Amino acid sequence: MPDFSDLGLSQPILAALSTAGYSKPTPIQCQAIPPILSGRDLCGIAQTGTGKTAAFALPILERLVAAPRRPAPQTCRVLVLSPTRELASQIADNFRAYGAGLPLTTAVVFGGVPIGRQRQQLARGIDVLVATPGRLLDLIDTKSLTLSSVQVLVLDEADRMLDLGFVHALRRIVKLLPRPRQTLLFSATMPRAIALLAEDYLDDPVKVVVAPAATTAERIDQGVIFVPSERKRDLLATILQDPAFERVLVFTRTKHGADRVVRHLDAAGIGSAAIHGNKSQPQRERALAGFRDGQARVLVATDIAARGIDVDGVSHVINFELPNVPEDYVHRIGRTARAGADGIAIAFCSDEERSFLRDIQKLTRSPLRPIPAPTMLARSAPAAQSAESAPAQGTAPQPSTSRRPETPRRPKQAPARQAAARQASARQTSARQAAAGTERRRNESTPGESLPAFLRRQPANGNNPGHRGTGRRDAPAARFNGAR
Ligand code: AMP
Repeated sequence: MPDFSDLGLSQPILAALSTAGYSKPTPIQCQAIPPILSGRDLCGIAQTGTGKTAAFALPILERLVAAPRRPAPQTCRVLVLSPTRELASQIADNFRAYGAGLPLTTAVVFGGVPIGRQRQQLARGIDVLVATPGRLLDLIDTKSLTLSSVQVLVLDEADRMLDLGFVHALRRIVKLLPRPRQTLLFSATMPRAIALLAEDYLDDPVKVVVAPAATTAERIDQGVIFVPSERKRDLLATILQDPAFERVLVFTRTKHGADRVVRHLDAAGIGSAAIHGNKSQPQRERALAGFRDGQARVLVATDIAARGIDVDGVSHVINFELPNVPEDYVHRIGRTARAGADGIAIAFCSDEERSFLRDIQKLTRSPLRPIPAPTMLARSAPAAQSAESAPAQGTAPQPSTSRRPETPRRPKQAPARQAAARQASARQTSARQAAAGTERRRNESTPGESLPAFLRRQPANGNNPGHRGTGRRDAPAARFNGAR
């Protein structure tokens, strides 16, 4: 495995990497840095956690300093498009950190915050602009920015950009860019739509593929607890009593679900914060900062908000609800296996989610280990009784037919109607439950059983020669990312 210095990087950048605690380049960095430095277009199939941001940021910075030029007012030299605000902030932070010793400017623009300050920043001209597509177009439409001087375009997480409906915005933006330019496209997956984008936008690209979904998933200890939907919050509060769950990312399918989990954990005395699309940008930033610096041990997130979460030392990822898109499962659990570390992921699976579980196992080709639910939960008392506390075990699971993320799963009902609906639903599903119940009972009430040791231990870290941290709160890269 080469060193960073073998890849053609100059002294100021090598110094920044050493400050960040990176000792060796990751596979995507080894493969992508030399061709990007030589000016080639590149199509990288890599998911977050592989070190892909540095793979494009480092050679871009090198090329910018090699051809010093003041950006003209209201222009940028490099445009990085990101699907989410969090990812955009993260990328900009990385550019600033890697380029700390270089006379270059970086700005980030995204929606949900006032546009005025962003306009002011752009007025002077910027070397590296990181943007989400919608706000970028707002700035272009109000004549605060032109793209006529862009030399390098990066499309990061292109598959997610399409998933989120940015395809028209993307096409509009690309039409405004000059040719020739260097174009770099990164995507976790390569569906046909992305292959077509790559064909349209890239010129004879170098193709780099690292860590396909299954490989990342294999590095993570994965377990599943079969539990009715209405017992999940109690189960979560119970297992979080274990201090081995040091820094935990919990995924829910909906924003309201995330808020409900936070309220329930609060009632159980467990500090947590939620991050999702209904939160304002300052709220999201506060939640992330609190999670990074350890004030909140638990961060509850939806998929979209989680895309840009880059926090080291996540000890456990809990899939409170299974995603209906199996690739999302891989993205989620990848949060506990950053840059070569191992991690632990636990899925809570209700009867209704079994088909999602099957799809996930098909994709990752690694079956999730069934874990018995903690005995104390099976025996009785919920750890916390909040206003929204679950009904007794045996009550029918809530219907969860929605396949769209971020959508509340059922309309609000008056308490009396809720109870009636629950009873009716219980009758309807009792036959199905009877079939599934055998397995659940085995999992939930075996006397003396609790979470197996492998789920409670510290995730093994540092088994990658390039990994820089201990996986703990004070890992250098956690400070490095969090400080900006
Ligand atoms: P990314 O895939 O860009 O989201 O990066 C994932 C994480 O890996 C981030 O926390 C980076 O700071 C970290 N990272 C990137 N490159 C390296 C490296 N060569 N050695 C150790 N950590 C790295």
